Amino acid sequence: MSDEPAIVIVEDDPNIADLVELYLRRDGYRPYQASTGERALQVIAERNPELVLLDVGLPGELDGLDVCRAIRAESDIPIIFLTARDAEIDRVLGLELGADDYVTKPFSPRELVARVKAILRRSSGASSSAGRPTPIDLGWEIVVDPGRREVTLAGEPVALATREFDLLHYLAEHRGLALSRLQLLDGVWGVGWVGDDRTVDVHVRQLRKKLGDALRLETVWGVGYRLD
Ligand code: CA
Repeated sequence: MSDEPAIVIVEDDPNIADLVELYLRRDGYRPYQASTGERALQVIAERNPELVLLDVGLPGELDGLDVCRAIRAESDIPIIFLTARDAEIDRVLGLELGADDYVTKPFSPRELVARVKAILRRSSGASSSAGRPTPIDLGWEIVVDPGRREVTLAGEPVALATREFDLLHYLAEHRGLALSRLQLLDGVWGVGWVGDDRTVDVHVRQLRKKLGDALRLETVWGVGYRLD
């Protein structure tokens, strides 16, 4: 039973924490709750979880952002913020604390579990595929092959411009995460690139046109894009 991945739920609202715990348990995870930031750090140290769900607004000395900072000082374990308001999202994104994703309350527990799965899949994939690039199967018939710089749709190659390929590859490597236009510009075009972030939108439009409905690329309002 100890093979079940441990997940720490940091949330002071017991109704939300219990509901999330129920869904995680049902999906084969081992959830632990903490209702304050101080307790969260203890539980994380004790349980060494695979992922942390972190409420931003917590009672006591440490809020969610403090807890995130404390975790990041020691590890890069995935963190998903649970945020109550748009203003909190702005703070989470603005501080660049290294959160892997966030969901806004009220959220669907099923959607949250899907995000958890996506992030855990990515972090286990990242550690096993170090070295040579392996093709990334996006499901829905799209395969991205970074070694050959080729994308196939239902087995047929699709002609993509260089940046279109790079953008799709970057999104595929960060699957399940909401990425801002700035993150995409930095990751694909390079940090020194001077230009308009609408460049990203233009390339996304091209990818959607060429790959159609098979491309599960969501627009995340106010943030950017997420490949599911
Ligand atoms: Ca709260």
